[in-house]
Order: sequence, then structure tokens, then C-alpha cells
Amino acid sequence: MTIERGSLPYEPGALEPTISARTVNFHYGKHHATYETNANKLLEGTGLEGESMEAIIKKTVNDSARTGVFNNVAQVWNHTFYWKCLKPNGGGEPGGKVLELITSSFGGYEQFKEKFHAAAMARFGSGWAWLVMREGSLEIMTTANADTPVAQGIKTLLTVDVWEHAYYLDYQNRRADYLTAVMDNLINWDFVNELLAK
Ligand code: MN
Repeated sequence: MTIERGSLPYEPGALEPTISARTVNFHYGKHHATYETNANKLLEGTGLEGESMEAIIKKTVNDSARTGVFNNVAQVWNHTFYWKCLKPNGGGEPGGKVLELITSSFGGYEQFKEKFHAAAMARFGSGWAWLVMREGSLEIMTTANADTPVAQGIKTLLTVDVWEHAYYLDYQNRRADYLTAVMDNLINWDFVNELLAK
């Protein structure tokens, strides 16, 4: 199996004005594409070529000889998941199962939003902010660089990319503004509810 990043679930300009077409074209068309190209190159001859991305991520996470494979495959997975977590006219308070779980785990949507924002701001340098499910309740976590909860077999429900390339063209150094705008306008809660139904 070849590692494939999949197609973008919307047009590159569909997330404007929160995320510009220019950012999406660089982010999906250059960064994400390069991870895909490098992942496939680095997998050649490793014996892992036939495996799923999730299996490769778990098998290479603590293997210092295969850091390149891990980083590139994990970044393909993380970005494909990130694009699915966004949609035009999304964001704001969700409904359905995810709201029930957010309320039981964090006290309410506003509390969740504040905590998620703070965690994403506290991630020094490049990385990812996540909403995950562990033992029946929701948790917020962050990972550095390419690292992903998938490596630990944790069920992921939502991610926001906090690498500078995700926001620099539109927000320069203002990560907080990017996070607020994404949470208020782009989060695809329907996707999160679909994941919870599985
Ligand atoms: Mn990225």
C-alpha cells in the first residue's frame, strides 16, 4: 500500500476568510504533499510498505533508526485528519453526543474552549492540539512536531495544527487569533460526532 494523503475535502478557498486559499495551497499542496512523497521514499525496502499508516506509526515511534519514516508517515496522517476536522461554516458550540461528552468532561463548551486554547498556546514550537477519548471521557492533549496520539493507540476526535506554517501567512505570529478563528468558524463537529458514533 502506498501512503496517500487523500484529497482535500473542499476547495482551497472554502475556509476563507479564516484560512486563506494561499495558506491551504501551501499547506496541503506543498507541506502535506512533501510528507507524502518523503514517506513513500523512506518506506522503500523497510518491509513496512504493505502496512496501514496507523500500524507504521505504532511500529516506528520509538525506533531511533526510523525517525524519518515515523515523522513523515505521522505527518501525512495528522494532516489528513486535520483537513477533515475543518469545514466552511463550522465552529462554535456543537450539538449531539460530543456536546454531552464535553459537558461531562469539562463542565461545558466555554470551559472546553478555554482549556483547548490554553493547551494549544502552551505547546512550545511546532505541534498539534488534540481532543481525544480515553476510558470513556474526553481529554485535551498536545504533541510536539510529528508526534500523534495514534502512536499510543489513543482515539483521536479533533486536532488543530499549531505549526507556524498553518497560520503564518494569514496571522503571522498570532497563534491565538488563528486558534480563536478556527474554533469559532471552522471546526467540523459533524465529523467529530461521526467518529463518536463508530
Ligand atoms: Mn501542518
